[in-house]
Amino acid sequence: MFGRVPKKSDNTKFYEVLGVPKSASQDELKKAYKKAAIKNHPDKGGDPEKFKELAHAYEVLSDPEKREIYDQYGEDALKEGMGGGGSSHNPFDIFESFFGGGAFGGGGSSRGRRQKRGEDVVHALKVSLEELYNGTTKKLSLSRNAICSKCKGKGSKSGASSRCYGCQGTGMKITTRQIGLGMIQQMQHVCPECRGSGEMISDRDRCPQCKGNKVTQEKKVLEVHIEKGMRDGQKITFEGQADEAPDTITGDIVFVLEQKKHPKFDRRFGDELYVDHKLSLTEALCGFQFALTHLDGRQLLIKSNPGEVVKPGQYKAINDEGMPHHQRPFMKGKLVIQFHVIFPESGVFSPEQCRKIESVLPMRPSKHLTDMELDDCEETTLHDVSAEEVKRWKEQRQHRHREAYDEDDDDDESAPRVQCAQQ
Ligand SMILES: [Zn+2]
Ligand SMILES: [Zn+2]
Repeated sequence: MFGRVPKKSDNTKFYEVLGVPKSASQDELKKAYKKAAIKNHPDKGGDPEKFKELAHAYEVLSDPEKREIYDQYGEDALKEGMGGGGSSHNPFDIFESFFGGGAFGGGGSSRGRRQKRGEDVVHALKVSLEELYNGTTKKLSLSRNAICSKCKGKGSKSGASSRCYGCQGTGMKITTRQIGLGMIQQMQHVCPECRGSGEMISDRDRCPQCKGNKVTQEKKVLEVHIEKGMRDGQKITFEGQADEAPDTITGDIVFVLEQKKHPKFDRRFGDELYVDHKLSLTEALCGFQFALTHLDGRQLLIKSNPGEVVKPGQYKAINDEGMPHHQRPFMKGKLVIQFHVIFPESGVFSPEQCRKIESVLPMRPSKHLTDMELDDCEETTLHDVSAEEVKRWKEQRQHRHREAYDEDDDDDESAPRVQCAQQ
């Protein structure tokens, strides 16, 4: 049209469209396009032609190579260079590359060409602590909807579908209902005839494999790799393996690991393994050794140091025998053992044995009371109290205290609310 030598105005139009100077930086171009594109988006009632123009101008100027050609030779040179194509992209794609389709708060567009995303399917997957320690592979058989292989998801033999009469192809039906004098309620619902697809397939055209449903049930075996050191609550995702549907981006199948409680080991603080071990009083005082079967079946020899006395509730740890660290399984946490000392029952020692025990145990802390001091004391009787009893007493006491507090509260509504600090 303009020949080889373009007119001067031919290489300023795109800048004018975006409203920026010829010296505009990439950042300025971006900002200008973003602002103008939102303002002129057809979904917001803007002019589609203007929207297209903006996208095209931005597409050219945001590409340094194209921009240079445009600045030097104008738009026509660009068309020649691109084989006559000119604008190669859909203006909506350019817009969406900016905003990811969520520019107006979640893709509420009526335009059918945007694909919706199918739902993710989430399964809980029970695993033992042994499996998390050693790693394992589980084969799981699931059934899902798959696009019919015979009709490729069209639902008919040769794509012979026609627009649904019930909804005129929109998939939705609007019904009106008079709810009062001069008041009409409009309701929109999915068309029952085509179930929202907007199309009808006559019985004889229906795909024999899926019977027009477009999808068929498919059995699928998934191999779930549980890696060493994975944790309770961790997710394993199979992207795009959930139910397929026409014009839909298939969602993911997600397995959430659920660790079963282990009878012996308890995983805490990431990679630490805790285990309880009971010692007799003799072992606690005079030394012990025992074999601990680990989660991989190995036997660990656990023993005290010579002369060591273990106190009730005491912890001891072994480095690098805890859980493997996920993704670095050669690194392991600690194995922590808490010792519980089982004391002998009352009455098992004769007075003679008591004297023997006392002769080797450390001296009593206090001196004997003199007869005079004993005369000054009152006699008492000790009786046994269980830990449960002590707990119950505490609860009763708290309950009584709360009641007293509530009464106070009723008496004086204006009193400031003070948190009770007493237990
Ligand atoms: Zn319909
Ligand atoms: Zn089919």
